[in-house]
Amino acid sequence: MSALLQIGDLHARYGPVQVVTGMELEVADGEIVALVGANGAGKSTTLRAVAGLHREASGTIRFAGRDVLGASAERRARAGLRLVPEGRRLFGRLTVAENLTLGAATRPRAQRAEVARERAELLERFPALDAALGKPAATLSGGQQQQLALARALLGAPRLLLLDEPTLGLSPRLTDEVLALIASLPRERGIAVLLVEQHVRLALAIADRAAVLRRGRVVLAGAAADVLASPELEAQVLGEG
Ligand code: ATP
Repeated sequence: MSALLQIGDLHARYGPVQVVTGMELEVADGEIVALVGANGAGKSTTLRAVAGLHREASGTIRFAGRDVLGASAERRARAGLRLVPEGRRLFGRLTVAENLTLGAATRPRAQRAEVARERAELLERFPALDAALGKPAATLSGGQQQQLALARALLGAPRLLLLDEPTLGLSPRLTDEVLALIASLPRERGIAVLLVEQHVRLALAIADRAAVLRRGRVVLAGAAADVLASPELEAQVLGEG
């Protein structure tokens, strides 16, 4: 089976500064892949390049059999490639309900009933959002905004979710809940996940495979359990980027 996402020899830079330097990574349909590495290793930049938000990038990015490197972020999103960025990027003045509606904006009208059902399910899972439907997103706590960003992305029916630090600012209880939700995505919704997560051990526990990034390239990759057991993991993730 060919990969859903295939990143080949990806380079990304900020002006003259190269931060991703020959990155190789694949994500298969229905798979969770964790991308870990020290601060500044290039994880966020990789996700942003894959989503089409960081355009100073070269190499190969194939999604669902198509080369998408030249495609806009919007086209990639419509094709099923969705980023939930670190820092959330909600429409702060819009209400929680309006943010959720926007998340589903790319779904065809014929799916309205399905969208409504999914929305109700997500609100059941995240009762804090249900209680705040009429409030501007900016008034939510950090943890609630994180939940809203994830719920909004899920309503877009992605095939692959790119998650950048989805538990940032969450309590330990909510961290566990959000990671459990992520773990269920392939099985329950057929969604593949590329996950950047600060809680490396928790991320590797729900991932099928993992890649360790150091200075913009993969230095260790394999089954998540093997990466977790690798003596190199600690040094690479805690070492300098
Ligand atoms: P972190 O966990 O700290 O976000 P990361 O692995 O996600 O780390 P990136 O955010 O991709 O790393 O950053 C990679 C490198 O690019 C870092 O050295 C960072 O300082 C640099 N960088 C990030 N954004 C910019 C920018 N807008 N302009 C210049 N350099 C940047």
